[in-house]
Amino acid sequence: MPTKSQALFAKARRLMPGGVNSPVRAFRAVGGDPVFMASGKGALMTDVDGKSYIDYVLSWGPLIVGHAHPEVVEALTRAVETGTSFGACTPREVELAERIVEAYPSVERVRLVNSGTEATLSALRVARAATGRDKILKFEGCYHGHGDSLLVKAGSGVATLGLPDSPGVPRALAELTVTVPFNDPAALEEAFAAHHHDLAAAIVEPVVGNMGCVPPCSGFLEKLRALTQDQGTVLIFDEVMTGFRVAYGGAQQLYKIDPDMTTLGKIIGGGLPVGAYGGKARLMDLVAPAGPVYQAGTLSGNPLAVAAGLKTLEILRRPGIYQRLDSLTGKLADGLVTEAARVGVPLTVNRSGSMFTAFFTPDSVSDYASAKKADTAAYALFFRSLLESGVYFPPSQFEAAFVSTAHSEGDVAATLQAASIALSGLRP
Ligand SMILES: *Cc1c(COP(=O)(O)O)cnc(C)c1O
Repeated sequence: MPTKSQALFAKARRLMPGGVNSPVRAFRAVGGDPVFMASGKGALMTDVDGKSYIDYVLSWGPLIVGHAHPEVVEALTRAVETGTSFGACTPREVELAERIVEAYPSVERVRLVNSGTEATLSALRVARAATGRDKILKFEGCYHGHGDSLLVKAGSGVATLGLPDSPGVPRALAELTVTVPFNDPAALEEAFAAHHHDLAAAIVEPVVGNMGCVPPCSGFLEKLRALTQDQGTVLIFDEVMTGFRVAYGGAQQLYKIDPDMTTLGKIIGGGLPVGAYGGKARLMDLVAPAGPVYQAGTLSGNPLAVAAGLKTLEILRRPGIYQRLDSLTGKLADGLVTEAARVGVPLTVNRSGSMFTAFFTPDSVSDYASAKKADTAAYALFFRSLLESGVYFPPSQFEAAFVSTAHSEGDVAATLQAASIALSGLRP
């Protein structure tokens, strides 16, 4: 008898490309059939066959307060009852913009959109309009959504599928994208010298999440800020994952960098579809109707997404939230390292606050090349053993894992116990 998940996946494969609405959900990188989810509550998800999992994917980051947080559910219920969309101005959009501007001093004005992809595409358009230049610079292994200009040496899903570029991206457009290794100041200097005063924008995940978690080396972001400043290149911090995650004020607060533009998403929608781009007034005032750069959205600033986002941010402003996330995730990360050492499995754990990745390699991981040295077959075995034990880790070596405020010390202890079994199975 196939499980309900297996039966659903068989049907889904006939109806949807690969059976999914986003590639990584298909479990291609770890093998086996994906699990279909029926419900979530706090740190737990339950699948359609009734098995529960401690969730470290958390919808790829948005659910920092866990699944179906009672206060978020209440805020959403009230929003639903008063109308789900108006295509007109609503008060809470202004409130969410205010919360973002308060938390990100580099953001003087902000525009809400429906996804992170939309946010980065729009930010690039503004940067190109502001500078009158076409070229952009990005870093190997960084993912900024699936827009044409940015699907060049992108990380995670694309790396996992082994597609360095996607077919369908016009060569002429890809040629405008300059790619440089992350954490390599010399390569960065070379790129800025080679494309002297030609780069409209440099876009970066200031703490990378999409080749797995890779924090910036000391001085790297400062060097990027200095070079972009010097050449009049718009510096875009893509904080779709790190915003309100690594700190309330994102990586720019943590590393004290003042980018020209910032993109957000994930957490600011509290689990509903949302994105945002913002930055200096001189740039954002180029956006229609204030200026000539066109960008619009039927459902942008959607009342449900804004209600869930506002409530999530309110919870995150309560005292001690980030300290607790940090210490709990620290315990988990340290526990994984200790357990791996005990059974003699080479493991390197990278972490920034409540995001982390356990790379199956003895060497430090500081860029895409070093991330790619990780043993993906070992990761796949680790993942499948954890899944069996009721722990849901990202179904790819190159995706970050997350901890929420709903996770308890008990969840971490249970996870480490499951990890101990999984790692013992990998003993060389
Ligand atoms: C998730 C992500 C995106 C894309 O956001 P979507 O909502 O999936 O379109 C862009 N940039 C970064 C850094 C992300 O993590």
